[in-house]
Amino acid sequence: MRSQKSLLLIGLVVALTGCNYSYSQVQQPSPAPELKVVTTFLPMYWFAKAVVGEAQVEILIPPGTEVHEYQATPANVSAIAKANVLVKNGINFEQFLDGTVKSAQNSQLKEIDASANIEPLAGNPHVWLDPVLAKQQVANIRDGLIAANPKNTATYQTNATTYIQKLEKLDTEYKQRLQKYPTCTFISFHDAYPYLANRYQLKQVAVVEIPEDQLSPTDVQKAINAVKQYKAKAIFGEPGVDNKLLKALSQDLNLTLQPLDSLETGTLDPQYYFKAMQANLKVLENACK
Ligand SMILES: [Zn+2]
Repeated sequence: MRSQKSLLLIGLVVALTGCNYSYSQVQQPSPAPELKVVTTFLPMYWFAKAVVGEAQVEILIPPGTEVHEYQATPANVSAIAKANVLVKNGINFEQFLDGTVKSAQNSQLKEIDASANIEPLAGNPHVWLDPVLAKQQVANIRDGLIAANPKNTATYQTNATTYIQKLEKLDTEYKQRLQKYPTCTFISFHDAYPYLANRYQLKQVAVVEIPEDQLSPTDVQKAINAVKQYKAKAIFGEPGVDNKLLKALSQDLNLTLQPLDSLETGTLDPQYYFKAMQANLKVLENACK
């Protein structure tokens, strides 16, 4: 949805003094044109949208599309060509981006790396799954937007603060509810949770690094070995993915298969982050009990 352009208002002040009229015409400055903000995938969209507020924010990777292996489209090139600002996660997550930005030939484009000043864990890009690092990402996006459009500083600051406060509350809740299970070890088939595990003293044992439709017998054997070695308490699959192999594997191992959300899919509502992270907290808590 495009935001409605405000009408240019011309304030007319008429002062009536005695029998004489004096006019002073005050022309208000036209509103600053909104930045064209383009984001790469959902968490970047949510964070940027939360900071920007009413104005439109675009997303290059449509929700529901596989993010890790994403291939750019001509529409992506033209979106970047018209944009003022591009918000990315960084840490080499958006591998399609360099070539796409080059093709767009937009010399005015400002790129915001949401992971600036974040220390990567073994080059893993999934920083948004740690609420504390998510705060840092929101702050980086806020600062980048302020630099690109200082006229909107107050709005960006207010909006970012609201979102950051919710992230702080979420972090407190994670701490309170997970501190009882300090050695809880889990197995994931998507290496998405090292930051989350690190933050809350859990242990992720990623067996198969990239989600696959088919697990090979070697993958299955690795999983069995890992479960035994680490006395893992749970196997996590992706929500909405009906993986029969994982299901069978978890039954063989007498572990429940639970959906843990890497937040790479979802709705466009910035509040979806909190909804999905609350669901993840419940799953982790139950699995670790
Ligand atoms: Zn991922």
